[in-house]
Amino acid sequence: MPLTLSVKWNRLKSLQITGHFLMKLTSDYLVVGSGIAGLCYALSVADRGQVALITKREIATTATRLAQGGIAAVATTNDSFEQHMQDTMEAGAWLPDEEIVRMVVENGPAAIQALVDWGVQFSRGNDESYDLTREGGHSQRRIYHVKDETGKEIERALVEAVQAHPNINVYENHTAVDLITEAKVTRRRIKPDRCLGVYVLNCDTGQVITFGASITVLATGGAGKVYLYTCNPDIATGDGIAMAYRAGATIANMEFMQFHPTTLFHPHAKSFLISEAVRGEGAVLRRRDGYAFMADYHPLKDLAPRDIVARAIDNEMKTHGDDCVFLDITHKPHAYITDRFPHIHETCLSYGIDMTEDAIPVVPAAHYLCGGIKVDAWGETDIDNLFAIGEVACSGLHGANRLASNSLLECLVFGEAAGRSRTTRTSRQPSTTAAVSRSSRGPAR
Ligand SMILES: Cc1cc2nc3c(=O)[nH]c(=O)nc-3n(C[C@H](O)[C@H](O)[C@H](O)COP(=O)(O)OP(=O)(O)OC[C@H]3O[C@@H](n4cnc5c(N)ncnc54)[C@H](O)[C@@H]3O)c2cc1C
Repeated sequence: MPLTLSVKWNRLKSLQITGHFLMKLTSDYLVVGSGIAGLCYALSVADRGQVALITKREIATTATRLAQGGIAAVATTNDSFEQHMQDTMEAGAWLPDEEIVRMVVENGPAAIQALVDWGVQFSRGNDESYDLTREGGHSQRRIYHVKDETGKEIERALVEAVQAHPNINVYENHTAVDLITEAKVTRRRIKPDRCLGVYVLNCDTGQVITFGASITVLATGGAGKVYLYTCNPDIATGDGIAMAYRAGATIANMEFMQFHPTTLFHPHAKSFLISEAVRGEGAVLRRRDGYAFMADYHPLKDLAPRDIVARAIDNEMKTHGDDCVFLDITHKPHAYITDRFPHIHETCLSYGIDMTEDAIPVVPAAHYLCGGIKVDAWGETDIDNLFAIGEVACSGLHGANRLASNSLLECLVFGEAAGRSRTTRTSRQPSTTAAVSRSSRGPAR
């Protein structure tokens, strides 16, 4: 442990009230969250030091595991980085940071290759080439997928790799409750502040543990559970953002909550998502009277960007006094639907809806937080030694509205970039607190 950190630890120890913090653990890297962002980061640094990875439920209880549609990356000669960038900028209402968009898009093919190397088996067509699908806002077919359970396969592969690595210790049922920073420990105003670790509640024993680390990474996912109707899992309660905010980190774009247009409308379905890939493969949104309304709203009709489709549905429901609209893919062959969307088909069937014969009743629901903890191109926050990656972060990629399937890609690219950033801002520029310009800190270093 660096000298300064061990001095802080001694100070921290003296501040502990006997009986409250019984245990203290240290590691080189402390990762909070076991979704794609946290797992990818852990794997990228584990050969260089000890990693403690804490997660508040079982390791695979994540939004990542629920991802259906897939992950976007330029894959064919018809496509180009410029087109993927253009689609991302347009979906984000031209508010994304162009340099960050370029960085993520250009690293897309390498990110897909990394997943393949970790053992992810993407779906292939009859000719054995990858079966690329399309989603709203994309001008090309560029979505790699594993039928309609892409996230489950990614989570499986990454969890297996993490569990096999001798330097990664996983702590399940451990909830991070607050960041430990130099300013908190010394009770002084320090700018920029420095992160020393995290207080963590062991949910099995009720014990609070002080986890210290040279680098702390928040990969705690989004905050969909703030809303009554959301397709997010129960873990998505915005903990990382709250902790970073309390510690004084900059939080940005929290008003940009994305609503997914099509979640299953059923009293017992807990907002089950119907992937945008269903529309990508030809499904049409209809009113109760059968009218296909999306042509009235956007030239791309049912494949318009998400915010436009969600607002159109909301408008139709309010204008016509309907509880929901209907997603119709019944014109496709039965065998195609059951093979391409087995999970969605089976889940709908369990609620008495056969999507091969009936249109699926759907409504919009809270889906993805575009804002979060502000980070630079390496995923570092404005608190030294504190990184934030994945949905918890505001990297500048999404602007006002995320392009479909860009989220898993962002988690991978930033997980890798943060892992490759061997030094933090402080040690790179010890004499100044000024932010280094993004272009000089891009991950191609
Ligand atoms: C239904 C659904 C479908 C989606 N489909 C797609 C898709 O097809 N393509 C795409 O690109 N994106 C998709 N997304 C979005 C994407 O899945 C998420 O944005 C992405 O998986 C987020 O990954 P993450 O690692 O940042 O967070 P998560 O996967 O949500 O993981 C967060 C982790 O943090 C842990 N955690 C949270 N708080 C604490 C705490 N206080 N202490 C300890 N641990 C904590 C959680 O337990 C969890 O392990 C979808 C999302 C949903 C909900």
